[in-house]
Amino acid sequence: MYIMVIIKTKNLSKSFANGGIQNHVLRNIDLEIYDKDFTVIMGNSGSGKSTLLYALSGMDRPTFGEIMLNGHAIEKMKEKELAVMRRANVGFVFQQMHLVSNLTLFENVCVSGYLMKNRKPKEVHDQAEELLKRVGVFNEKDRLPSRVSGGQCQRAAIARALINSPKMIFTDEPTGALNSKIGRQVLNVLTELNQEGQNILMVTHDVKAATRATRIIYLHDGQINGEMTLEPYTPEQEKNRERQILAFLE
Ligand code: ADP
Ligand code: MG
Repeated sequence: MYIMVIIKTKNLSKSFANGGIQNHVLRNIDLEIYDKDFTVIMGNSGSGKSTLLYALSGMDRPTFGEIMLNGHAIEKMKEKELAVMRRANVGFVFQQMHLVSNLTLFENVCVSGYLMKNRKPKEVHDQAEELLKRVGVFNEKDRLPSRVSGGQCQRAAIARALINSPKMIFTDEPTGALNSKIGRQVLNVLTELNQEGQNILMVTHDVKAATRATRIIYLHDGQINGEMTLEPYTPEQEKNRERQILAFLE
């Protein structure tokens, strides 16, 4: 079977200068992320998960090494070229949603679609409505973020990330700011999207959230320190998956 690689890194490294001392946060990471997976990156706090996600999504530049994202060599791209590539290939969902506070949910979803040269506003509007229905906040579409719940904001943030049909949704602790019931609903949306074919790369330290993965990568001290693969998620299997993941983390 031929497996498509969507992200490939070589010697990926990132350090931060800290008062004259180099903090080597990512250390020579060679990694492949495969098409159709719901890949989860786990690891202790401070292990470099967010830094890795920012680098892989082209949001932040590595100090050293190569990143291929859907056929684009990020390290070779100029800022403007990178921005254009990211708009078409990358959707990002943050822990703290980061919706634009003076735009409605609908407008938040549309913004990045308007920036695409090849898209007509009508087409963007239609897709935004479809996505807002898809994630379950269509009835709230004309409200400001401050007028809806955290879970509804995160649903809208997922719709916003999907507006240009990106190759990969990157998400950093998407349930971190939500209670467990609402968090579950957001995870259900992500799981369904993946089972419909959407690539997802999620950072979490939460085992419950990780049960949604088809592949888990464990990051320790800036290096990959193990991985496991899982069958597609079903709710009936959740407890069992949780046990499997806990055993893997031991
Ligand atoms: P995780 O998401 O696994 O908790 P992070 O990737 O956020 O870990 O951080 C890993 C390390 O990198 C930490 O020691 C953190 O202090 C450091 N770090 C992250 N971002 C920056 C930055 N912008 N400047 C300096 N140090 C940073
Ligand atoms: Mg983090």
